[in-house]
Amino acid sequence: MTGKDYNLTDSFFIRTLLRIGSPSLLAPDERRKRVSAVFVVLVSILITSTFSVYHLFSGHYQVVAMDSLGFVVALYGLRYLRRHENGDSIYLGIGFGVFVLCSTTTIIGRTEISYFFWSFMLPPVLFSILGDRRGMIASLFFFCLSLILMTLPETVLPSPPYSTHIVARYSVIYVVLTLSVYYYETSHQMLIRYIQREKDRFESASKRDPLTGLANRRDISERMENERERQARSGRPFALILGDIDNFKQLNDTHGHDCGDDVLKRVAGLMKNQVRGIDCPSRWGGEEFLILLVESDREGAYTVAGRIREKIQNTDFTFKKEKMAVTMTFGLSVFNGGDDTVEKCIKRADQALYDGKHQGKNRVVVAD
Ligand code: GH3
Ligand code: MG
Ligand code: MG
Repeated sequence: MTGKDYNLTDSFFIRTLLRIGSPSLLAPDERRKRVSAVFVVLVSILITSTFSVYHLFSGHYQVVAMDSLGFVVALYGLRYLRRHENGDSIYLGIGFGVFVLCSTTTIIGRTEISYFFWSFMLPPVLFSILGDRRGMIASLFFFCLSLILMTLPETVLPSPPYSTHIVARYSVIYVVLTLSVYYYETSHQMLIRYIQREKDRFESASKRDPLTGLANRRDISERMENERERQARSGRPFALILGDIDNFKQLNDTHGHDCGDDVLKRVAGLMKNQVRGIDCPSRWGGEEFLILLVESDREGAYTVAGRIREKIQNTDFTFKKEKMAVTMTFGLSVFNGGDDTVEKCIKRADQALYDGKHQGKNRVVVAD
C-alpha cells in the first residue's frame, strides 16, 4: 500500500508524519510509535541544523561538530525508520538519545537553570515511543539519575548543586507528569485493544449464520473464489455439495417453526462433524446447505456426501419429546478449472439436487 491509503480521519499533521516515517501502511500500535519517533527525529534535525549554522557564525566549532553529528544520526534514524516496518531498535536508540540529552542538560542546569527544563520532555517522549511499561521504567530511572545529578556535591561535579526548593518542586512536578502520561498511555492502549476486539468480533459475526453458527453465504463465496485461484495454481480440483432438507415445509407445519430451527441447528452440527477442518460447510439459505470440500475429487466428495446423508437419515431427531424423520437430498459438482466458473459449478450442483428431488429425494446425485 502507498501513503495515500492512510486513514483520512487522521489529521493532516499525523498523516504527514506517517508518510515521512514509512512508505507502507503500519499496524495501529506501530503507527502511534512511528508518529512520535518521526516527530522527535524531525525536531532533532531542525534543532541540530539551526544550531550548527548559529554556532558556526559564533565560532563555537566544537558545538558545530556535536550538532553535525546529531544531525547525521537523526537523518540516519529517519532513513532506518522508512526502511523498517518494525522500528523497535530505533525507538530504543531515540529513547537513549533523549535520555543522554536530558542528563546532559540537567548537569548544565547546575550553572544555567533554564537548560534543565528539557527534562520535562522526557516522560511524554519515552512513553509514546517505548510504550507504557518500558516508558515507566525509563522515566523512573531518569528521575533517580536526575536527582543524583542535581544534588551531587561540588567536589564531584564542578558546579554548585540545585537548591532544595528546586529539587523538591521538580520531584513533585516530574512524578505528577509521569503518572499523568502513564494514565494517558495505558488508557489509550486499552482503547486500541477494545477497538481491535470489537473489529474482530464484528468481522467474525459478519461471516457467520446466526442460527446455525456455520459460515454464511458471503463467507463461503469468498472461500470458493480463493479455492478457484488455488485450483488454477495447483490444478487440484475442489468439490461443492449442495444439500436441501426434504419436506421441510411439512416438518415446520406439523411440528412448528421452533422445531424447524432446531432441526437446522442439528443438521448443521452433523455436517460440521462429517467434514475436515479445512472444508467449509455453510448455510446457503433457508434449509439449503452448501459444503466446500477443499482439494477433493468426484469420488472423495461422493463418499463424504453419502456419509452425511446416511448420518442424517440414521439420527434420531426429537423436539419436545416428539420424534421426527429427517432426510436430505444432495447435488454434487466438481470444479476442474479451464473455462469453468464458481457460478457454473454451483448451478451444476443445484441442477443435480433438483434431479435428486425428482428421483425421490434422500439421495446423492453427481452432476455431469
Ligand atoms: P423439498 O423436499 O422439495 O425440499 O420441499 P421443502 O418443503 O423442503 O421445500 P420448500 O422450498 O417448499 O420449503 C422450504 C421451507 O423451509 C419453507 C420455509 O418456511 C422453511 N424455512 C426456510 N428457512 C427457515 C428457517 O430459518 N427456519 C425454519 N424453521 N424454517 C425455514
Ligand atoms: Mg429448498
Ligand atoms: Mg427442502
